Amino acid sequence: MTDSNDCDLFVIGGGSAGVRAARMSAQRGARVVLAEAAALGGTCVNVGCIPKKLYSYAAHFADDFRDAAGYGWTVGEPTFDWATLKKNRAAEIARLNGVYANLLAGAGVRTITGWASLADAHTVMVRTASGEETVRAKHILVVTGGRPTVPDFPGCEHVITSDGLFDAEPFPKRLLVVGGGYIACEFASIFNGLGAKVTQLYRGEQVLRGFDDDIRAHVAREMTKHGVDLRTRADVRSIEKRGDGSLAATLADGTVLEADKVLYATGRVPNIAGLGLEALGVKQGRDGAIVVDEAYRTSVPSILAAGDVTARIQLTPVALGEAMVIADHLFGAGKKAMGYDYIPTAVFTHPNIGTVGYSEAQAREKFGAVTIFRSEFKALKHTLSGSTERTLMKLVVDTASDRVVGLHMVGADAGEIVQGFAVAMKAGATKAVFDSTIGIHPTAAEEFVTMREPVA
Ligand code: FAD
Ligand code: NDP
Repeated sequence: MTDSNDCDLFVIGGGSAGVRAARMSAQRGARVVLAEAAALGGTCVNVGCIPKKLYSYAAHFADDFRDAAGYGWTVGEPTFDWATLKKNRAAEIARLNGVYANLLAGAGVRTITGWASLADAHTVMVRTASGEETVRAKHILVVTGGRPTVPDFPGCEHVITSDGLFDAEPFPKRLLVVGGGYIACEFASIFNGLGAKVTQLYRGEQVLRGFDDDIRAHVAREMTKHGVDLRTRADVRSIEKRGDGSLAATLADGTVLEADKVLYATGRVPNIAGLGLEALGVKQGRDGAIVVDEAYRTSVPSILAAGDVTARIQLTPVALGEAMVIADHLFGAGKKAMGYDYIPTAVFTHPNIGTVGYSEAQAREKFGAVTIFRSEFKALKHTLSGSTERTLMKLVVDTASDRVVGLHMVGADAGEIVQGFAVAMKAGATKAVFDSTIGIHPTAAEEFVTMREPVA
C-alpha cells in the first residue's frame, strides 16, 4: 500500500464503535480513514443515549417539583417550554459532534463526510457532496449501526420513530407509544413526565420481555402510578389521519385512540442497505445482520464488523468494547477480549431499572437451584415527599456455589447503583461476600448488602 489514498484501516460509520476503533487504531500508528454519512457520534450521541438522557432529566423535574412541597418548599405552578429543551439539547449535541471531530483529527484520523460502500474486499467508495472518492484499505471495518423498523399496516406512514420524536413540533400533548422494549418504556416515561398524556400499547402480557419478571411487573406498576396509561395485549390494526392533523388508531378489539403523535418503538434493524455486502459474499443473518467471529472478522477476511450492525447486544458500551478489541487485534498487542457475561444495563424509565446478570427464570434454567432475596420499600426521600413510589431490589443466587448471578433494581438512580455492583458480579462475588460488605447508611443501595432472609 503506497498510494496517498491507501490506508491501513477504513472505518465505515462514525458512531460509538467507529469513532472508538478509528481513534484507538490511529493512536497505535495505523493510517486510518473514517467515513460518516450523517453526524459524528452516531445514534448514541445524536438520537439515542445522550439526548434521551437529557430529556429524562428534564422529565424528572416534574417529580422533583411535586416532591419538594413535603420538604417545605413552595414552588409556583411549574411550566415547561419544549422549545427551550430542544434548543439546549441541539446545542449540546452540536458541541459533542465537534468534540468527536477534534478527537479524530487529534488522533490523526482522516474523516470524510459521505456515504460509503464496498467496491471490493479492499476498496471503499465514498459519495461526498463534491463527488466520489475511492480509498484502498488493508482492513475495512463496517460499523454502520442500526435504524428503527416499523411494521407494515394501514396508516403506518403516519407514525414516527424515536429518531423523529426528539424534534417533534409541536409538543405532542397526546402521545401513543407502541412497543414494550427499552425505547417504548423510556419514551413513555419521559413524555409522561414532560406533561403529555401517554398511552402505551404492548402486544404481549408484560413489557420488557427478557428482564426479570418481578422487575417487569414492578416497573409497569410504577409507570402506571406515574400516569402512563399502559395497556398490554393491545395491537394496532390501522391508523387514520384526520382533517385537523390528529391521528386515530384503531386497535384489534375495535377501540379507537386519538393522539397527536404515534411513536413506534418496535425494534431496530442493521443499516446494511447499499453497502455492497452481498456482492462480496459477506455472510449475513436475520434482517441482514453481519455475521462475525470472535475477532469480529466477517466471512471476507479483510472486512470486519461490530456494534449494532451485527445485531447482538445493542448497547453503546458493548460497541465501544468491541471497537477496543478490534484496534488491539489489528494494531496492538492482540491480547484484549470482550466478555459478554454480566453486562449491566439500565432502562431509563421513571423510576429507572438497573440490572446485571441472570433473571430468576434464566438462572433457574441455567443453574437449577437458586435462592432469591427480594426487598420492596419506600425510599427514605419519599417518607416526606408524599410520593407513593416504591423501590424493588432483588438478588438471584446460585445455591450450589453461593455466587450472586443476578442483581436487579427498580428505583431512583438504579443505573448508577448497579454499575458498581456489576464489578463485584463480574469478579464472581458470592452472597457471603455481599453479606460481609458494610453498607453505606442511609442509602437505598445498602439494601443490596443487607438482605438476609431468602424469599424463595
Ligand atoms: P451507530 O452509533 O448507529 O453508528 C453508526 C453510524 O454509521 C451512524 O452515524 C450512521 O450515520 C453511519 N453510517 C451508516 N451507514 C453508513 C454508510 N454507508 N456510510 C457512512 N456512514 C454510515 N445504548 C446504551 O448503552 N444506553 C442508552 O441509554 C441507549 N439509549 C438509546 C436510546 C435510543 C433512542 C436508541 C435508538 C439507542 C440507544 N442506545 C443506548 C443504543 C446505542 O445508541 C447503540 O447501541 C450504539 O449507538 C451503537 O453504536 P454503533 O457504532 O454500532 O452504531
Ligand atoms: P426492543 O427490541 O428492546 O423492543 C422492541 C419492542 O417492540 C418489543 O416490546 C417487541 O415486542 C415490540 N414489537 C416488535 N415488533 C412488533 C410489532 N410488529 N408490533 C408490535 N410490537 C412489536 O427494541 P427498541 O426499539 O426498544 O430498542 C432497540 C435496542 O436499542 C434495544 O434492544 C437496546 O439494545 C437499545 N436501547 C438501549 C437503551 C438503554 O440502554 N437504556 C435505550 C434504548 C434502546 P416483543 O417483546 O413481544 O417481541
